Amino acid sequence: MKFCDMPYERLTLEEIQAAYAEMEHLAECAETEADLKKIMELNHRLKEAMTAMELCYIRHQMNVNDAFYAGEQNYYDEINPRICELSNHFTEKMLASPVADAYKKMIGPQAAAMLECDRKGINGEVVSLMQEENSLTEQYRKLVSNATVLWEGEKINRALMSPYVQSTDRETRRKATLAISASWEEQREEIEEIYDRLVKNRDSQASALGYENFVDLSYVRMYRIGYDKKQVERFREEAKRELVPVYVRMQEEKRKRLQQEHLYSYDNAINFLEGNPVPNGDTKRCMEYAREVFTKLSPETAEFIGKFMEDEVYDVEMRDGKAGGGFMTMLPKYKMPFIFANFDGTTENAYVMAHEGGHAFQGYLKRNAEISEHSQVTSEVAESHAMAMEFFVLPYMDTYFGERAGDYVTMHLEGAVNRILYQCEQDEFQQLVYENPGMSKEERNRLWKKLEQDYFPGRDHGENENLREGRAWQRIPHTFYWPFYAIDYGLAQVIALEYWKMRKKDSQAAWQSYLWFCENSGMMSFPELVKGAKLKSPFEEGALCGLFEEA
Ligand SMILES: [Zn+2]
Repeated sequence: MKFCDMPYERLTLEEIQAAYAEMEHLAECAETEADLKKIMELNHRLKEAMTAMELCYIRHQMNVNDAFYAGEQNYYDEINPRICELSNHFTEKMLASPVADAYKKMIGPQAAAMLECDRKGINGEVVSLMQEENSLTEQYRKLVSNATVLWEGEKINRALMSPYVQSTDRETRRKATLAISASWEEQREEIEEIYDRLVKNRDSQASALGYENFVDLSYVRMYRIGYDKKQVERFREEAKRELVPVYVRMQEEKRKRLQQEHLYSYDNAINFLEGNPVPNGDTKRCMEYAREVFTKLSPETAEFIGKFMEDEVYDVEMRDGKAGGGFMTMLPKYKMPFIFANFDGTTENAYVMAHEGGHAFQGYLKRNAEISEHSQVTSEVAESHAMAMEFFVLPYMDTYFGERAGDYVTMHLEGAVNRILYQCEQDEFQQLVYENPGMSKEERNRLWKKLEQDYFPGRDHGENENLREGRAWQRIPHTFYWPFYAIDYGLAQVIALEYWKMRKKDSQAAWQSYLWFCENSGMMSFPELVKGAKLKSPFEEGALCGLFEEA
């Protein structure tokens, strides 16, 4: 079915309550495997019914000013903490039921560990705090989606500024970054206030649940199974030690390429004197290129992209009032993924389809999983699907960029160093902020400023006060919505680079390992998947040594 024909009807809290009540009733008197199967089937059906929430979320993001879907989204934001509670209550019942052992065996150890995290991550006391948290993030979303920049006498959507930031004309780049900063500066006080309230809210949630701070609660809520905070800290330290020198070297190469005496941060978005490669064609053509790339890559991706295009389960065009960013989400009822993106005519068009395409492909591979618990994938694993796909499609980039495909590859590899460092910087920032919830707004900006110099030494923002004074974190959506998600990209980036290296030695073996990794996701922890796929763990001492010399 095409996305536009998928009907929407509100799924009410009462309906969800009734479904859980029925399952709990069955759980109490369950005796046989058949009884257990009946409960699992009902649970599966409930998850399918929850497709309504996904449809609402997507359509709300497609137009944040649409009053109907905004209202519906508001309703789900309100009831969401209640649903978590109901789900946890159901888990308790299942684990106390006569079929508890059979249940745990059926879902396997990874899903069982995730359920345990769910139980530890929420209780009735924090529901009202979580509702307030949702309304705060919604305030940020609204503020950012409607932001405009004064550009050449006209007000334009901030998201439409990318081409100017990447202009081959240095003066245009300088002015564009200043204009963008002015627009963020206008919203600064509101954003800093939202964030301050978010930090305090999340800290209160952590104390209410008995955690020392939100960092520890976050590790539970993010299902960090099989590794801990110390290992992540070591990963960040290794990134600083091993990758900062690589970054400095690459910056120097770039300075020579751009024929400049000195680089400023307004040169960040451009990589070549003649400009970054741009895809040959508009949004529609780019979707056709995506079809071509996935068709060439493998029989599995060819099947996926055929169905994906037929069902038109995407919205990639940029419009006023449409939320920024990109994501993939599954529509369980239709067993199809949906990709949301904002094509801006730059390399992003190709990049986003590779990344979100990786998420979507994995969702598609596992679309028939009968045990809903096996579709739930932790985020470092999910980002590994996506970021590895970015590398698997690299050999086909001539489809988008013709003769400049090689430049895209160079950009992508240099970008990988930047990304790992950037994700570590964000992770360290969040950790320090949530460990010290009493920090003032100015102290947070100063912290960002310091970390930026640790991870990107020599970065010069020149006259740009907004960036110079450490306020760039205010532009990162994850900081507000998913504060500890950043490091997942960092870990996944390492996995992706390992696949790139493996592919050079034996492309078939690399693809088979990737398929195995995708298919077993949801059934094992991240470290177990990495081991099973014969990859080096990012937590292993020296995991980042020489990663870019060979790449
Ligand atoms: Zn992703």
